[in-house]
Amino acid sequence: MTSDSLNQVATEVRVCRKCSLCETRTNAVPGEGNDAAKVIFVGEAPGGQEDAQGRPFVGAAGKLLNELLASISLKRDEVYITNVVKCRPPNNRPPRKDESTACRDYLNRQVALIHPKVICPMGNSAIRALINPSDSDSVTTLHGMPLEVESVTYLPMYHPAAALYTASLRKLMEEDFRKLRGILDSLVE
Ligand code: URA
Ligand code: SF4
Repeated sequence: MTSDSLNQVATEVRVCRKCSLCETRTNAVPGEGNDAAKVIFVGEAPGGQEDAQGRPFVGAAGKLLNELLASISLKRDEVYITNVVKCRPPNNRPPRKDESTACRDYLNRQVALIHPKVICPMGNSAIRALINPSDSDSVTTLHGMPLEVESVTYLPMYHPAAALYTASLRKLMEEDFRKLRGILDSLVE
């Protein structure tokens, strides 16, 4: 019997041709971090820097994410970071439904393998993909509100790219990260 692993998922993602984003990518970006992470952060899709390097959140949004993690004493290698789709959409357009559907199994496998206590979907694409809110709900109303489903806590957040140039959103993200710290501290081992 062969068992699944994060390396196996990454190997498949790097050569995946299940949707047309494979035509324009430079490198697929499977995700990275701790294979026993208590928390997974899920962004939308790789951007230019990520596509060039094959790693998630290594550009400007990644720098802000690193700062937010550091603000609650989390290191990148303690968490897992990935995206709804693993290949960069042309001109950084939002991923289409058919693309996130095609890519979905990889995210499901990553979550099943890591078995996190908390999942933070960042921005509307990830919130829609992961918690399927009603049409009227968006990150504006859902951010910072923990939602427990089958003993996993979902904590929706703004996308760090949205907070890059808007100080008020950065403040909200800092508050939401403090909530995340509270949730992590309250976990029983
Ligand atoms: N934005 C995302 O959604 N994901 C990344 O990996 C980088 C920027
Ligand atoms: Fe495959 Fe996902 Fe890349 Fe599409 S975005 S080619 S489904 S890895």
